[in-house]
Amino acid sequence: MRQPLIAGNWKMNGTKASAEALLSGVIAGATAIAKAEIAVCPPFPFLSLGEQMLAGSTVRLGAQTVSTEPSGAYTGEVSAAMLAEFGCRYVICGHSERREYYGETDEIVAKKLSACLAQGLTPILCVGESLQQREQGQTETVIAGQIDGIVSRIGIDAFSRIEIAYEPIWAIGTGMTATPEQAQAVHVFIRQRIAGDSQAIAGKIRILYGGSMKAANARDLLSQPDIDGGLIGGASLVADDFLAICQAG
Ligand code: PGA
Repeated sequence: MRQPLIAGNWKMNGTKASAEALLSGVIAGATAIAKAEIAVCPPFPFLSLGEQMLAGSTVRLGAQTVSTEPSGAYTGEVSAAMLAEFGCRYVICGHSERREYYGETDEIVAKKLSACLAQGLTPILCVGESLQQREQGQTETVIAGQIDGIVSRIGIDAFSRIEIAYEPIWAIGTGMTATPEQAQAVHVFIRQRIAGDSQAIAGKIRILYGGSMKAANARDLLSQPDIDGGLIGGASLVADDFLAICQAG
């Protein structure tokens, strides 16, 4: 059985004080949650705080992106080694906001995954279609292209150390969640695509859903057989809301 993973993607939100309060709340509530694995992905400046506060907690730390490069003259970038040193376990890679606003291509995302894996970090690879692509019936073509674009560059074996997040772009931050059936259908498609290369990895890989997941819809989504957790944006910024989703996992 795949243990559910509920990861909070804080995006570019919070202050030192609010980050501290949110971390405290999640840490306290997490002690009552046995089933799901819980992770929080704060902005870079709060990672050190996260590392300190999460020591001794079961809650894991993650980052929202990483440099493709190991070190050097790359102003503004943060390396995978730095994230590892600050206690990160997870790194969100290829989020649709990064793909859309910062021009991250499959080639760049593949390099980020490799950079993470080289440092023992677990990447959370995000894939997902736009509303227009869905309406034009291209969902599976788009997702297959995103998965294949990574597999062709880093090989299928790397997927034994990767989590996938299916995040339909039209559902992110819009309040328009995919129905459990819509999400399940894409999750099965992703798993089958992986199974085409490795049955063993397909059986083990966790595929999270992301896009307006909240306490009210988490249980229905997470009860689908191929939905192995959630990548939570807005609802991860309020400890009780996030914990309610963790409880549903
Ligand atoms: P949301 O964001 O939960 O606010 O829709 C999810 C994400 O972008 O990871």
